[in-house]
Amino acid sequence: MPFSSLSEIKSRLDAGETSAVEVAQLYLGRIAAHNGSLNAFVHIDPAHVLAQAEASDRYRSEHDAPRPLEGLPIAVKDIFCTQDGPTRCCSRILEDFHAPYDAQVITHLKEAGAVLVGKTNMDEFAMGSSTETSAFGPCRNPWDIETIPGGSSGGSAAAVAAALTPAALGTDTGGSIRQPASLTGITGLKPTYGRVSRRGIIAFASSLDQAGAMTRTVKDTAMVTAAISGHDSGDATSVESAPVVDWLGACDVTDMKGLRIGRPKEYFIEGMDAGVRASVEAALEKCRELGAEIIDISLPHTKYAVAAYYVIAPSEASANLSRYDSVRFGHRCDNPEDLLDMYTRSRDEGFGSEVKRRILTGAFALSSGYYDAYYLKAQQVRTLIQQDFIKAFEQVDLIATPTSPITAFKLGEKTDDPLTMYLSDIYTIAVNLAGLPGLSQPCGFVDGMPVGLQWIAPAWREESVLSAASAYEAATEWHSRVPAAFGSDGGES
Ligand code: GLN
Repeated sequence: MPFSSLSEIKSRLDAGETSAVEVAQLYLGRIAAHNGSLNAFVHIDPAHVLAQAEASDRYRSEHDAPRPLEGLPIAVKDIFCTQDGPTRCCSRILEDFHAPYDAQVITHLKEAGAVLVGKTNMDEFAMGSSTETSAFGPCRNPWDIETIPGGSSGGSAAAVAAALTPAALGTDTGGSIRQPASLTGITGLKPTYGRVSRRGIIAFASSLDQAGAMTRTVKDTAMVTAAISGHDSGDATSVESAPVVDWLGACDVTDMKGLRIGRPKEYFIEGMDAGVRASVEAALEKCRELGAEIIDISLPHTKYAVAAYYVIAPSEASANLSRYDSVRFGHRCDNPEDLLDMYTRSRDEGFGSEVKRRILTGAFALSSGYYDAYYLKAQQVRTLIQQDFIKAFEQVDLIATPTSPITAFKLGEKTDDPLTMYLSDIYTIAVNLAGLPGLSQPCGFVDGMPVGLQWIAPAWREESVLSAASAYEAATEWHSRVPAAFGSDGGES
């Protein structure tokens, strides 16, 4: 049971073979046994989890039909505002913060009957690719606890990969769902920008941030995304007329007949790990066997994506993070001498060094005299990157790439070298700049560490990534592998 998919657990609940309370107890037991070595959860309240599970069992007994996620455990990244428990974005500056309201996606999960299991570890304010900048200490990868789980949603990824929860929510500004999913051997989808409400999600870079599901299978990702998406009048960037997707129907696909898959030459470059390249090439070969046509394409402005992102994202972050002034909420320094001292010392004590680096670069890029040279130029490059995709999708239905150029690296390996850390986002960032849906799913292992395959579709075409990923999943077994150290205890059944 622990490594069951969400849909398998749902079938067992619907058949009356188990209860939400039993399922919650199982995962709480696994969290108690394994969180010490992984540091995937930063907040857990077992009594509250059980109370939600009891309420779900009661709902089931009192109603004709269960809700879509009735009794299913879902963990959420510490970036989502929740009325229950703390919301800290894994930053010291929010150490005492309790959100006065639930994020819209949390409301959706509750309305769908899900049991919220706790808050997961992340890079501070979602800035990072390894979950090492967390104020609560690094999270570890269940496939090798000396390595990082990716980031910034590393806690959600590690928790799903080690079956401390069957599903989790993450957020993705430049790859933070897809890259950790890739590095921990699970599936994660960043929906089209505007598909999922950002209300109540602590803002990093508002024009890029999007929440999404991290799960063990493609269908589970579809189930969770179906529950959290939809228009929200409280988020001006939530799109009202978004094309409707048949989320579950999209997953009932087992072949790729007639599918034209683009293979962008800029994503198969020198410097990528040879094992990663071989795994992704083998995955494309499998797609060909399933009936797809693989077409070489070019996304010529790809090489500028990292640079453009690391101007745009910090610029937006520097504006978003100015609200942490220690006046209404957040950490406040002791005995400030005056107002300015209070602002500067509180922020200095509350923010970690990566967050400070982003605020400084962002404020610089936006400052008068530099705005045109940096921010405006980066926005122009963003348009070129968007146009690359639009042109490519005249030729192909979907694009397939590696999710990350490397597998999980050792803890501490890149912490002193921000530029190398930023380069690990090289394959995920353009998708955010263009606002497109992107999914990562497992497609192999190199030296025991998972490799991810990324699917990219035109805006609003989530069903096409889900269908291709479902067909690939049905033909392969990568998604069903389990990290040995976490496989055998905790009530396997
Ligand atoms: N690693 C990227 C960054 O540090 C992306 C983070 C994210 O998607 N939240 O900005």
